Amino acid sequence: MKKDFYEILGISKNATAEEIKKAYRKKAIEFHPDKNPGNKEAEENFKKAAEAYEVLSDPNKKAKYDQYGHAAFDGNGGFGGGGGMNMDDIFSQFGDIFGGGGFGGFGGFGGGGGQRRMKGSNLRIKVKLTLEEIANGVEKKVKVKRKVQAAGVSYKTCGTCNGSGQVLRVTNTILGRMQTATTCPTCGGAGQSISSKPNNADAQGMILEDETVSIKIPAGVVDGMQLKVSGKGNDAPGNGIPGDLIVAIEEVEHEFLKREGENLHYDLYISVAEAALGVSKDIEAIGGKLRIKLDEGIQSGKILRLKGKGIPNINSYGNGDLLVHINVWTPKKLDREQKEFFEKMLTNENFIPNPEKSDKSFFEKVKDMFS
Ligand SMILES: [Zn+2]
Repeated sequence: MKKDFYEILGISKNATAEEIKKAYRKKAIEFHPDKNPGNKEAEENFKKAAEAYEVLSDPNKKAKYDQYGHAAFDGNGGFGGGGGMNMDDIFSQFGDIFGGGGFGGFGGFGGGGGQRRMKGSNLRIKVKLTLEEIANGVEKKVKVKRKVQAAGVSYKTCGTCNGSGQVLRVTNTILGRMQTATTCPTCGGAGQSISSKPNNADAQGMILEDETVSIKIPAGVVDGMQLKVSGKGNDAPGNGIPGDLIVAIEEVEHEFLKREGENLHYDLYISVAEAALGVSKDIEAIGGKLRIKLDEGIQSGKILRLKGKGIPNINSYGNGDLLVHINVWTPKKLDREQKEFFEKMLTNENFIPNPEKSDKSFFEKVKDMFS
């Protein structure tokens, strides 16, 4: 079970962006590898705090996390094998935490100080899922075209920045001389440039390659939800780190079942005769047909609730229900004999509507359904 991101940073769910940043800065300094050499636990905590901050500092990701928890990213279904961030991701994140360039405060980061590694761009795909696949969870294999480094590309260190990826600019201000670091304009921050490459590669030495990526989709995903497969986006040139593959879920409409959150709805039509006599009926459900028995005298508009036959909750809080709506079908045409029968029934007291107190009104039933 993954620990709650808010808990990791020691803040409440109502924390402001500034409070989140402050809490992370504190944890980053406390658990920084330079301060805790060889301490595995500190390193773990350092990574966890970075992962929590990565999500909570991004309004989009934060909203998703608040709604779906860890499953929205990489927790539940094992996306990207272990998910999480590597140290390079974490250090590249520090730029906006500790103010650009200088990394002021604790004297540089081990060997990594200042040397940024480029991250490849993210790829986006849509995956269509049937209601059955959503209910059971599914592993999908998708073909993506990823940019990867072409074989035979060689690099030389960028002459402008001498490989650091950044150039320093000194400006005179009223406060004195200020030094600011900006991304190297020659190499775009990569720290190196191409010295030779094959003809089919682009300016960065990259080629497009087909790759089949396997995506584990947990049960209970929702239309429009986005899942992240770490490292399956475009590779970055040189010693960069690959971007991510963002998978958008699209739900294919079911022929008979309507989804509403975790509940499913099914409209069942029965004849007047079946309603009067009682009947057994097969209804559509996830995983095949289900037989249900209707008692004699069942009323049109009744809703039967089949517990647990809906869609699983994405955070494993159990299944929704399948709600079967009973509709009594009145014949639109009668032959002579049927007409005579029903005419006789006009005065028959069994045919005179006489709802009991226990037959709830439509509005009470709807209220019930959502409670
Ligand atoms: Zn450069």
